[in-house]
Amino acid sequence: MKEGALKAQIRKGDLVRVVTGKEKGKEGAVLKVLPVKHSVIIEGLNLQKRATKPTQANPKGGIIEREGRLHLSNVMLLCGSCGKAARVGKKILPDGKKLRMCNRCGDVLDKDS
Ligand SMILES: [Zn+2]
Repeated sequence: MKEGALKAQIRKGDLVRVVTGKEKGKEGAVLKVLPVKHSVIIEGLNLQKRATKPTQANPKGGIIEREGRLHLSNVMLLCGSCGKAARVGKKILPDGKKLRMCNRCGDVLDKDS
């Protein structure tokens, strides 16, 4: 599988599960996709401590925790239909539109809004 194919599979707002590394088994929503680094930021996961300067909201400054990025190959999309971590397949509609599809249950993951 080529890396380029991986890029479009996970998008902001998707619910994903971490499949390897120290956050293995945890789930969260994608806050941000970093295509250049093949990484994602997931809400509440892979927290990293960072020193901050004092501000009005936080007069003492100190250490805050922020989400660090996780490599795309370490996360899998959670399918809303079957509830399982799934590889993403592609479904091409007659009009040429490409949709993401769960390869476990075959359900389309991109709901039209
Ligand atoms: Zn599914």
